[in-house]
Amino acid sequence: MKLINIKHPSEEVSFSEAVLQGLGRDQGLFFPLCFEPLDDVEGLLQEEFVQRSVAVLKHLVGDEVSEATMHRMVSSAFNFPIQAPALDERIRALELFHGPSLAFKDFGARFMANCVSEFHDGGPMTILTATSGDTGAAVAHAYFGQPGINVVILYPRGRISPLQEKLFCTLGGNVHTIAVDSDFDTCQQLVKQSFEDPELKQGLGLNSANSINIARLLAQVCYYFEAGAVVADIGNTAFCVPSGNFGNVTAGLIARTIGLAYKRIIAATNVNDTVPRFLESGHWDPNPTVTTITNAMDISLPNNFPRVLELGERHGLPLEKLLTSLSLDDNETREAMRALYARGYLADPHTALAWAALERSLVEDEGGVFLCTAHPAKFLEVIEETLGIEMPLPPELEAVKDKKVLSSTISGDFESLKRELVSG
Ligand SMILES: *Cc1c(COP(=O)(O)O)cnc(C)c1O
Repeated sequence: MKLINIKHPSEEVSFSEAVLQGLGRDQGLFFPLCFEPLDDVEGLLQEEFVQRSVAVLKHLVGDEVSEATMHRMVSSAFNFPIQAPALDERIRALELFHGPSLAFKDFGARFMANCVSEFHDGGPMTILTATSGDTGAAVAHAYFGQPGINVVILYPRGRISPLQEKLFCTLGGNVHTIAVDSDFDTCQQLVKQSFEDPELKQGLGLNSANSINIARLLAQVCYYFEAGAVVADIGNTAFCVPSGNFGNVTAGLIARTIGLAYKRIIAATNVNDTVPRFLESGHWDPNPTVTTITNAMDISLPNNFPRVLELGERHGLPLEKLLTSLSLDDNETREAMRALYARGYLADPHTALAWAALERSLVEDEGGVFLCTAHPAKFLEVIEETLGIEMPLPPELEAVKDKKVLSSTISGDFESLKRELVSG
């Protein structure tokens, strides 16, 4: 697989280089130079999930990784189930939160961690990543205890749910967590800045685990094919994806590019609506980030959006036909949680928001799949307060809820981070 830096297309790297470097020159994102269509999508859809995912990822990555190695990396990464219950005749939930950190990010983080271990030459390595809540836990669990690899995770202090925090800030060992007195966009900016700093980049062997790492995106392509395998008529199906950094939507569009012929895809956002406004007006005009109950999507500078545009521009995907985006506020999200609960489906706020956007957007005879990105228990406080119920904790959360948070706290400037990194 050849990838280019979107900002400097003359910078060309292999898959392993892209995985290990994370970002290209001037913080440019790596993206495949071209995509080949899959030969036999129908046949693939008959296979079971891991086998099919090996085939899809092998197709995407090419000769750099052998079939046997890919099988080993995929089967140990995707070692938990996907469930896809039908809500009614038209709509299906695609539950991606049955992994160790209870969010869909386990797919990308676990596959990426396996790629990094496979390609890593043994020198010092620090995985530096920013999280709006769920990436941190997925990445921390994916790398926890891996020899020779340090993990540093930045998150906006007080802006992730307490249980989200417990899930990754209580591990210790090779996982170091830093609460930043600012918002997620600042955390993301600090990560990018660290990569520009030669002392940090070389000294610590920095690598990124954000959705900017191409391995994560490719892994996420696989579950769109799983949806293709369970719905009756993929050609008439619309996906709805609760979106923040737009990695999930990018993965869905890659699936389309290589041959999963679904009808269209809807990116649902909260009031941090840079993309819906952009698609409407053609102007890229981010507002300051607002805190919402769907905090994993409190992002007004979505990192992956240049890749979405690249799929339109360089890869010929008809985005105007395929991609729409709409935004819902907290009231509408709570309304959706109540409506779903009344139908017997308990959804976390992000998932509920996607369902409501899908309901609003579906036309007469279309079928729809909404992506369920987190387990409801990760957002216990919002659920209990919105639905007036008490919710039992799953074992993954029961085990950490009384543990001490081990994070250090810094202000949102680069010097504070650098001091922390160098001393840590
Ligand atoms: C990360 C996350 C999202 C947003 O996904 P992107 O790929 O960043 O658009 C949505 N919901 C939950 C629960 C998340 O953790």
